[in-house]
Amino acid sequence: MVQVKSNASYGEIFFYREKQFIPESKYLFWGKVSSDYYNSGIKFDLRDHKKYDEEDDEMLKYPFIPVYILSGELKRKWVKPLQLTKIIFSALRRYSQNISEVLSEEIINSYGLLSHKTAVLRTHYPKNFSDIETSRQTLAFEELFYLQLICALRKKSTSFESGISFKSPSEELFSLFSRNLSFELTNAQKKVIKEISSDMESSRIMNRLLQGDVGSGKTVVAIYAMLKAVLNGYQAAFMCPTEILAEQHYQTLKKYFDKFDVKSAILTGGQKKKLRESILDEIKCGKIQVIVGTHALFQETVVFKELGLVVIDEQHKFGVMQRAKLRGKGKNPDVLVMTATPIPRTLALTVYGDLDVSIIDELPSDRKPVRTGLRYEKDRIKLYEFIREEIRKGRQAYIVYPIIDESENTDLKSAVRNYEILKKDIFPDLRLGLVHGRMFWYEIDDTIEAFRKHEIDILVATTVIEVGIDVPNATVMVIEEAQRFGLSQLHQLRGRVGRGGEQSYCVLMTDNPNSIASERLKIMTETNDGFTIAEEDMKLRGPGEFFGTKQSGELKFTVADLIKDKRILDKAREAAFRIAEDDPQLRKVSNSAIRNFFSLNYSESMNLIKIA
Ligand code: ADP
Ligand code: MG
Repeated sequence: MVQVKSNASYGEIFFYREKQFIPESKYLFWGKVSSDYYNSGIKFDLRDHKKYDEEDDEMLKYPFIPVYILSGELKRKWVKPLQLTKIIFSALRRYSQNISEVLSEEIINSYGLLSHKTAVLRTHYPKNFSDIETSRQTLAFEELFYLQLICALRKKSTSFESGISFKSPSEELFSLFSRNLSFELTNAQKKVIKEISSDMESSRIMNRLLQGDVGSGKTVVAIYAMLKAVLNGYQAAFMCPTEILAEQHYQTLKKYFDKFDVKSAILTGGQKKKLRESILDEIKCGKIQVIVGTHALFQETVVFKELGLVVIDEQHKFGVMQRAKLRGKGKNPDVLVMTATPIPRTLALTVYGDLDVSIIDELPSDRKPVRTGLRYEKDRIKLYEFIREEIRKGRQAYIVYPIIDESENTDLKSAVRNYEILKKDIFPDLRLGLVHGRMFWYEIDDTIEAFRKHEIDILVATTVIEVGIDVPNATVMVIEEAQRFGLSQLHQLRGRVGRGGEQSYCVLMTDNPNSIASERLKIMTETNDGFTIAEEDMKLRGPGEFFGTKQSGELKFTVADLIKDKRILDKAREAAFRIAEDDPQLRKVSNSAIRNFFSLNYSESMNLIKIA
């Protein structure tokens, strides 16, 4: 607070817009203070001010006075920041006794939290810096607690319903299955197969997430689960995020299922009406035992005879709500969700908190870690020689261009233009192919198939090849303008090589060795561990961006911070799961605060409580 002097002058306080102030009155100012070297004094960059009145005295007793950032409907036109400070201060004074508790006393005590009211008051008017953090921690706990409570209740409610218990002697099936593989399963694969098998055999509904780094061999695990379902007389559905992936996976799955005399089929949007109808008929009568497709598999026209297992690949591309919808399709089918994107644990608990988790934490032993290097424009000639060298050895290469803006055609331009140049001027003697997102999916698919059959040496592409493509003979992955990609995306792309026994290479081309971007890219050269990269990526881009726009809404927290608050999340989860175990209907008097808060704020999830 400053008293304006009528003769305020240079050297005391210099007001730029002196006329706005009434001499001899007092004002509150808000702004940024910094030292002013020129005038060897203090510079005050004024943001807002308000005329002082006596009611302000109460507020001025506090060592910190909050300034609120105007957002949403609150425009500067209507209210100024310091005015808002005043309004909120009076609101807190008048109504804070009505702030009711949101957690039970037991939880507050055992986790050393503040009461909700105290946390709210101290967030606005802390007495010291540590108040700010302790009250924030309580609010973060509350926020994460309710999210986890929903997960816990969801999990609990499915455990009440009974699912299918697939019988089939696991030992026999397992050895039959293993005999038909051209490789030995890794211990990690065997471990998750056991976990999935016992889930499927139990009468509970399976809701399991299968996580594993790119190339860790999730597909065979899924095939095993589907085989188990089919041999028990049920159907299995394999759902992919895109038609290209569905087609790619179908090629792989079909080879396996043919060996076991299991009839598989693919359902896509591009199919002729007649073919589609006959497939639909065969799904309905149960002749088709395994069906591969996109989420279109869950349209009303698709009727299963007896759907027993749903496998969802690359789940993070679907969104949580879609997952819930899909479950209603069969009569409590088991669900196996797979993701190749290593997800930082905090994120996984948030998005997949109601699922059991199996992790393949080991790559097949014949794999050599992909060698990754950062290269610049000056290295381009050498790079081309290197690609040539590998192709001479009988290997294949990918060259990937970024999608700069999906709404414009810029991505096309760089991939298409460069494809022409590469084909005409750089590698006229080699066989090149091109795939990008504006081609029809079956065109893409034909080209990828040709690459797989080694009718193409170099596949020029946009990120359409990010996931699912499996060509073990490809050993070079060149990523142009690598700085434009997220780290996790680069890791996915890199995962397209190193899938066979040969040494593979990933070359990240970027603009300039000293840029911040190439600093960020260094982590790619230092580790091949998807989880480390994912953590790093989440720190850099934030949890919402990490998952892409589809799920960012579900990951928006007011107070909690998934990067900082890992331990709080663990505690909140523990508390929530204990409640769901002890008192799933929230009937105990001691949980009444939780019940009230839940019914007020999560009315759409009330069915989970099922209060009789
Ligand atoms: P991802 O986990 O990325 O989906 P895939 O299931 O596509 O991995 O497997 C990658 C490649 O590794 C495939 O070519 C697959 O046949 C092969 N593969 C899977 N398991 C093993 C194993 N235990 N030993 C050797 N190769 C394997
Ligand atoms: Mg896969």
